[in-house]
Parts: sequence; C-alpha cells; structure tokens
Amino acid sequence: MLVDSHTHIDTSRFHADREAVIHVAVAGGVTRMVDPGCDLASSREALALAKAYPGVIFAAVGVHPHDATTYSEEVGELFQEMAREPEVVAIGEFGLDYFRMLSPREVQQAVFCAHLELARACNLPCIIHVRDSHDDVIELLRKHGQGLRGVFHCFSGDVAQAEECLTFDGFMLSFAGPLTKQGNALPEVARMVPLHRILVETDSPYLIPNPIRAKRNEPLFVKRVAEKLAEIRGMTLEEIAQITTANAVRLFGLGEPQV
Ligand SMILES: [Zn+2]
Ligand SMILES: [Zn+2]
Repeated sequence: MLVDSHTHIDTSRFHADREAVIHVAVAGGVTRMVDPGCDLASSREALALAKAYPGVIFAAVGVHPHDATTYSEEVGELFQEMAREPEVVAIGEFGLDYFRMLSPREVQQAVFCAHLELARACNLPCIIHVRDSHDDVIELLRKHGQGLRGVFHCFSGDVAQAEECLTFDGFMLSFAGPLTKQGNALPEVARMVPLHRILVETDSPYLIPNPIRAKRNEPLFVKRVAEKLAEIRGMTLEEIAQITTANAVRLFGLGEPQV
C-alpha cells in the first residue's frame, strides 16, 4: 500500500480518463493520493475530487509560485474557508521557483509568507515547492515558519541542502521521478534522510520515472519511485511502502482507504 503524496490528478491532462487512472492506481496498491492546488481554480477542483473520492483523494489548497501574482487576500480567505473541509489536508503547493521565474521574486516571497500564515491559522502542514531558491526558502522559513510542519516536495537539492531542510523538525523530504535518473545527488540524499521523514510522490502528470515509457506520469508510477528508494536503502519495497505510508498518514492525518 502506497500513498502518492503529490499528484495533480485534477489537471486537464487527466480529463479524458481520470476515473480509470484513479482505479488503476488503487488496484495497483496506490490507495491514497494528495492533490495540491496550483491556484484558486485548481484548489477547488482538488477539493471537488476529494469529495468525489472520499478516503482516496485528499486536497491541498494553495497558489504555485508560477501563479503567485494571482494570490490576493481574498483568495487567502477563500482558502481558509475551504481548509475547514475535512478533505483539505494541507496548504500548498506554494514556494519559490527562481528557475522559471514566472512571477517576480518579491511577489513570490510575499505570497510564500502569506501561505505560511495560512498554514498556521488552519493548523495544517505545508507543501513547499523549491526550485533554484533553496537559500531564500530556508531564510523565510527560519523567520516566519517556526513551529510549522510540512514537506519539501520533489526534493532536488544536495546533501548539505537536505541537512538544512531537516533542521525544521516538522518537515519531511519527498522524492519523485528524478530519484530514478542519473547524474544528480538524490541517491546520496535518499541514503541520509531519516526513514521517518521520507515521502514519495509522482508530481504527475510531470516527471515520469525511469524506465517507464509513457506520455504522462500518473499516481500508479509512485511505485517506481518507492522501488528505487528501497534499492538505495537496501530494503524491500514493502518496507518502504509501509514507512512512507505511515509518514504520509501522520503528516497529513489521512483517513483509512474506503475502496
Ligand atoms: Zn512543485
Ligand atoms: Zn506539483
């Protein structure tokens, strides 16, 4: 049994066959998934899906750094309202993305801090997106994130950066498809993260793990990430599945699967 701790199953890439994709995942042992919003509309979609698939899909509400300019106080109030629904298990995804820099840096930072306040007000974990922005994320968390919990999703840094992330007690590191690729420091990172602080995810429809050949990623393929993690840690897939599932259940307070 696995949890895909980060999938954008609400997006248009799944419009034609979403139902089938969810059933294939569940039948394949990926019994629960967390769908984070990227703006107000997709946060609403995620919540609607979580209501349609109770105990299987869970929602998070937030504005992605790419869309940071769409955030406003009003959107924050709507998120706070939505977060009262039991299906909403986190605030996110939000963060800083200096790689594509689709929103100005200062706007990204202000919106980042607004989400930290939301997480605090709603007493929910944070799903944080970091791309070429590690130092600023750490600095803002040190200033404004005391006592918060959450996950650095699709972690892509090196060992030193992972160690800094792990100084925030309530935070976990989540691995996605890049763990299965050559030429990065992720295997080294995956070896040193304490087992009780690791999650796995797909970030589907993006980031297809090796060696899967497909047009798009989907929640079932989180198994491949878990397999790779098991190989790196010298453990069985079952052990890794059990550990990462327990971590996701603890962090997000997930209920039992109902299918
Ligand atoms: Zn992300
Ligand atoms: Zn994402």
